[in-house]
Amino acid sequence: MRASPLYLRPRLEPPLATLLEAVPFLHSLVDGLGSPLNVVVPERIAENAERFRGVYRKHHLGGRVFFAHKANRSSALVRRLAATDPADVGVDVASLGELRHVLGAGFTPGRVMGTGPKDPEFLWLAARTGVTVNVDSYAELDQLAGLVRKYALPRVDVLLRLSEFEATGSGVKVLSRRSRFGSPTREVKALLDAVERHRDSVELIGVGYHLDTTGLAEKAVALDRCVMVMDECHARGLAPRVIDIGGGFGVGYVADAGQWERYTTELTNAVLGTRPALTWRGHGYGLRNEGGTLRGALGLYPAHRPSAGPGYLDELLSLPSPSLGRPLGTVLLEQFYELYTEPGRALVDQCGLTLARVLDVRATDTGPPLVRLGMNAADVSLEEHGVLVDPVLLTRTERGEGDDPAGVGVHLVGNLCLEADLITRRTVFLPRLPRPGDLLAFANTAGYAMDFHAHAAQQQPVARKVAVVGDGDGGSWRWCLDEEYWPVTYPGEAES
Ligand SMILES: *Cc1c(COP(=O)(O)O)cnc(C)c1O
Repeated sequence: MRASPLYLRPRLEPPLATLLEAVPFLHSLVDGLGSPLNVVVPERIAENAERFRGVYRKHHLGGRVFFAHKANRSSALVRRLAATDPADVGVDVASLGELRHVLGAGFTPGRVMGTGPKDPEFLWLAARTGVTVNVDSYAELDQLAGLVRKYALPRVDVLLRLSEFEATGSGVKVLSRRSRFGSPTREVKALLDAVERHRDSVELIGVGYHLDTTGLAEKAVALDRCVMVMDECHARGLAPRVIDIGGGFGVGYVADAGQWERYTTELTNAVLGTRPALTWRGHGYGLRNEGGTLRGALGLYPAHRPSAGPGYLDELLSLPSPSLGRPLGTVLLEQFYELYTEPGRALVDQCGLTLARVLDVRATDTGPPLVRLGMNAADVSLEEHGVLVDPVLLTRTERGEGDDPAGVGVHLVGNLCLEADLITRRTVFLPRLPRPGDLLAFANTAGYAMDFHAHAAQQQPVARKVAVVGDGDGGSWRWCLDEEYWPVTYPGEAES
């Protein structure tokens, strides 16, 4: 008996799910614009922002959702977001280029926040236009205040990004992971002294953090600590009103919990040698077999998530405050604090896909066939982020043949003359063997996977990006180049 295939089918929601059914349309896009091709769905980013706002409403909290722009370079996505209710939705920029981009996309400076370590040009443009600066370090605060004075700029609203939190009060000590970013909480006193010294140039509007983790407990400790720092500020006569809890709300990539459980269990078995390999040359994704004992740790993104995105925010706000015992959302509400969030990946959930043409299918005598694609590993960097999920096979023509019930295991290889250029090291199961001319669609790549790592090595083409707008019921789709998208229609054109 052949083992049943280990699928990791993607979680698909509208409009991405209906777009993937428009197979001739997607083929015509790649025929015209080449492989690889990135497709973004601007409508969905607005819906995602609305879902985050729904969690704010549920907890009766004011504040704003800032899209962390670094997750995707698309113009269409930020322009569509700029068209949403201005009071509720902003954007978080981490470079001079991103700041220029969002100002040109229709975000007024009051809706923009600058995060990450900044260079003087970035600080100057932020201060000049009135963008909120999320200050990364003590030195940056000094530098910003110096710029404001030297160039007679308007007073700047600032948040202080904190890091290295520890639980107080409770018996267990939870330390948050170390970070290169933000000021360690032990420096709070010195930071607040500096804020007071620079009060002619900066106004403290709040404190916050961004922790690159999906761990809820760690975030609850950090949020709790921010509430205490706010108390310290008020005791000094400062009047901050915002707590910014950063991003990291996550995305569920794999639809089915059972498939995910089964795959990770079988991967462990494969590393231990109790079943055939499930990866290119037995790669273990962080696990290894030392004389029959499993060592290491699985370095994969938790691709099936019971709660992610807005649901994760809801869970965090419902957790008891480690020091006060009441739900964190209630603690914020009691103080009338505004909540800022900075979702990146979660705000572009279901907002795009990456298409690649099958160029060649080659049998091997050592393992699964090699399917060579018109893309390389950097064009769809799911693997880089440890995200394992199946692509969707879009055959060129109806072949009248059914799917193979046993599935077909293949290795997906890229278009670089580099042994390591594998789209994923996982053996991917497809419902049948692809043929040249077919497309593979990698769903849900808008967060970090479609353009963050793309490069022009070997002069292979960097993917073009298009924005698509549906008619609402999946019947027809219109497209334009990403940079041509604006949230307006011409007379006679269907409303998007
Ligand atoms: C990257 C980043 C985010 C977004 O993180 P996600 O995990 O994509 O939600 C938010 N804030 C800051 C400061 C970041 O650097």
